[in-house]
Amino acid sequence: MALDLGGTNLRVCHVTLLGNGEHTIRQQKYVVSEELKTGPMRNLCDFIADCVDSFLTENGTIDSDSTIQLGYTFSFPVLQTSINRGVLKQWTKGFNCSGAVGKDVTILLQDSFRRKNINVNIAAIVNDTVGTLMAYAYKHPDTTMGVIMGTGFNASYYEDMNKVKKWTGKTDQEMVINMECGAFDCERRVLPLTVYDNKMDRESINVHQQLYEKMVAGMYLGEITRNALIELIDRQLLFNGESSKDLNKIWSFETAYMSSIEVDETEDLCDTAHILESVLSIPSTTLADRQIVKKVCNAVGVRAARLASCHIAGVLKHTGKVGQDCIIAIDGSLFEFYPKFEKNMGTALAAILGEQARSKVKFDLARDGSGLGAAIIAMIAAKN
Ligand code: ADP
Ligand code: MG
Repeated sequence: MALDLGGTNLRVCHVTLLGNGEHTIRQQKYVVSEELKTGPMRNLCDFIADCVDSFLTENGTIDSDSTIQLGYTFSFPVLQTSINRGVLKQWTKGFNCSGAVGKDVTILLQDSFRRKNINVNIAAIVNDTVGTLMAYAYKHPDTTMGVIMGTGFNASYYEDMNKVKKWTGKTDQEMVINMECGAFDCERRVLPLTVYDNKMDRESINVHQQLYEKMVAGMYLGEITRNALIELIDRQLLFNGESSKDLNKIWSFETAYMSSIEVDETEDLCDTAHILESVLSIPSTTLADRQIVKKVCNAVGVRAARLASCHIAGVLKHTGKVGQDCIIAIDGSLFEFYPKFEKNMGTALAAILGEQARSKVKFDLARDGSGLGAAIIAMIAAKN
């Protein structure tokens, strides 16, 4: 089995590996409430255990007498000390549960399973980028990177162990590195932050952290766009200077709205009008207003894709893979649903590495990769 706590939803999966790169997966999504995201860790773990319990009850075909091995995709910065031990370093992506930082999150969840007599063993703790890399490698063993573009932004790749300074053991193999690249440039020296980024950062739970992630990932793009729109309103350049209660509310402009606005090819941008007037209650909008909004969404979306490609180009340069065939496995709703995200990433990669090198790189959607990958890792861990 696999559990995937990604940031927005909790997914419980039962995976059957069929060999030859084939698999079947049964899964159920559960919404993690704001209360659970910011309350005591014990409540979150009990909720997760209850979801696993109800999944097992509803999918009664799983043999309940033997212990079920589970891969726990826990996608927050963890100091991993063994295959199923990991201490939480800090929360990201809007989570802020008390009693978790500095603790081993597998032990906390295993305790909840024990208290509730759920016969499940956490065989592995997995980062979603690593799960995605492993899931894709199950079918395409030469996969180069695992990348997440969902609520958050992060990536993993293979590194020569002799280059891993923290590692003191044998060094004749490769090791998968979870880069936690969303934490790049906490010092704010490199990233070209705008006033709209800074305002969003200031109002987030983790101020001055995860700044790269905040410029790229699904949780944040809508809020950056909202900040830009509010400024245009205040300068009397948009909506005749009128905002609405809904648009004034922080985090009210969802990244999914940007997707709908970006695909709106109607002559009078009526889908955009619907979002602005019906969903966000702006009193009235002109076609020029809607064109401006579309342009702002596009600027924020293209910037995100370009910044994401900078990271991928950096890893390819670092590992000497520029010009070689590379598969980049990517999971997450932003990559899956945001219009032209993949195309924009490709254009940016060509600008950095050249068209020839870009043509060798294949971005591929690894849908639900993090769940499948965690199950694969749990199976191998349990067998070993
Ligand atoms: P997680 O990262 O929690 O595993 P997802 O991969 O589903 O989950 O990503 C959720 C994020 O994707 C949310 O932050 C949301 O804003 C964003 N998102 C969801 N639907 C869309 C969409 N249609 N277009 C762009 N972004 C979306
Ligand atoms: Mg995910």
